[in-house]
Amino acid sequence: MVPVAEPAVETKEKRASTAHLKVVPETRELRDRIRAEAARRGRNLDRSKPLTKAGLQEMAQTLLRDLGLGEQYLGFTMVALSNEFWRDQVSAIDFHRRLLLLPHCLKNAEGCPADYDEFGLDCKKCGACSVADFKVRAEELGYKVLVSEGTPIVLKIIVSGHVDAIVGVACLNVLEKAFDKVLLAGIPCVAAPLLSSNCRSTSVDDDWVAELIGLRTEPPPATTRTYVHLMRAAHQICEGSELERLAPRLRGPVASQGPATDPLGQHEAIAYDWLAQGGKRSRPFITLAAYDAVRGAAGTRSADGLDLPDHVRRAALAVEAFHKASLVHDDIEDDDTFRYGRETLHRQYGVATAINVGDYLIGLGYRLVARDRRVMGAETAADILHRLADAHVKLSEGQGAELLWRDARDKTLTALDALKIYALKTAPAFEAALYIGLRLAGPTDPYEKMIVEFSRHLGVAFQILNDLKDWQGDEDNKLVAGQDVLAGRPTLLLALALEGLAGADRERLQALLHRQPPQGHKQGPADPHVVEAVRRLFHKAQVFDKAERLVEKSRARAEALADEVEPCELRELLYYLVDTVLERPSAPPPEPELLPLVRATP
Ligand code: SF4
Repeated sequence: MVPVAEPAVETKEKRASTAHLKVVPETRELRDRIRAEAARRGRNLDRSKPLTKAGLQEMAQTLLRDLGLGEQYLGFTMVALSNEFWRDQVSAIDFHRRLLLLPHCLKNAEGCPADYDEFGLDCKKCGACSVADFKVRAEELGYKVLVSEGTPIVLKIIVSGHVDAIVGVACLNVLEKAFDKVLLAGIPCVAAPLLSSNCRSTSVDDDWVAELIGLRTEPPPATTRTYVHLMRAAHQICEGSELERLAPRLRGPVASQGPATDPLGQHEAIAYDWLAQGGKRSRPFITLAAYDAVRGAAGTRSADGLDLPDHVRRAALAVEAFHKASLVHDDIEDDDTFRYGRETLHRQYGVATAINVGDYLIGLGYRLVARDRRVMGAETAADILHRLADAHVKLSEGQGAELLWRDARDKTLTALDALKIYALKTAPAFEAALYIGLRLAGPTDPYEKMIVEFSRHLGVAFQILNDLKDWQGDEDNKLVAGQDVLAGRPTLLLALALEGLAGADRERLQALLHRQPPQGHKQGPADPHVVEAVRRLFHKAQVFDKAERLVEKSRARAEALADEVEPCELRELLYYLVDTVLERPSAPPPEPELLPLVRATP
């Protein structure tokens, strides 16, 4: 590892609309021409590594240029090339292990008799649109079929282990988002784009979909590296029988044997249920993937290659237990209402029980590591426990600073103050997860500096992105937009606004902050008038643009650190973490003039 100089950082402009790049070629002849050329070029692609969106885009631009076609077909061409990249690997997967994902907008909007259930549109196969044809054909072959929308559900289904490949039909807008998640993770998938993106009674080249559904060949000689097996392992250790095996309950029956009847068992059940709740499991994934990466990355080549001893799995579970404990306490301190789409723990069981469940999970985390001290070696166990304790203290420091600021009368805040809090609140969890994976694989001397700095840049950028998402609503958790800053959190956006505004604007922002009820005494969502007024002031101070630039700066620094890392498998994992942890909001916060003017001056 050589010291990394401060990189020259190019700042990105706010992401431009890509609508002009997502035109479906108007004629069948033109669509076939592009597909044929994509098939020709696809034969020579290197399939050992997952595609990247940037690489795919470059190939598509070259193809269009060579055919003398305009860049409006870029999205379509990227789909055609991606299909060729994955065709053989999808073809080699048994039909029973494939998912056909259809969009509900394919239905006949005038009089479709189907209802929606938890799995999407329950097609009645009336024959009025092509959904029934595709569904019947695919189910005959053994596919699982979902008539739904959106990539998060796809990733969840893949990670749950029920399917190994996706055949999809979607508009180019949805497919563009899918590129970020599905391509990066190395999930075999092919897709046919809808011929329009107007979300109503859409259509598709039916024979193209039929061809994709029917793909079948023998396994190809080489498969693309993927993190799916490690993602599945990270989910499995936190749920069901694998959770019970790695961390057997001491007080009550396992969940499958019915509810506990005594208070000790009931308390343990609440903790285990919370530990098993959703989330991306990104922290245990980091631990498992870091361990795998420095030991040859066999787990990225096949499920059979996964070599994750129980003490490694238990350490990753400990990382998740610490994370879940911090969320319980965080939700109490912020009196949040929802987490993972359901009521937070303190809203369900009361604050006292929730505090205790959080404490229990912290204890469980330490116990899970300590019980394997003989297997991993006393020095390794001590190093890991030290790093966990250090992360625990730093997290409490960052959270403590945030709480004190929230309850203070003086609401001055600099961007540096906010960034220091972010570095303490978010980075230590990434640092501990990465460190533990590497430490379990061997000595970490060459990585010590990188682990700390990479995690800091990743954590800070992640927290800023969360702030930006907060102004768009967060489907996973918070459900209501614009809550963080109005709930009195010392966010970077607020600090940038206070630094960027002067005179009456600054005073108005301060006054708006003081109008909100103190946190911990929530009286419902923030006043929408106040939300809009703060949003306008944020735009005036250009905080969204400034925050975006800071994200890019941290991203560039994290990537520069990753550039120097050996072996290449670990380097590639770090790049993957940057791309996935720093997944961007789907659209920038809307400009105030696009919003209904509720009240000019609150
Ligand atoms: S075939 Fe299915 S999706 Fe299409 S209109 Fe009939 S019930 Fe609706």
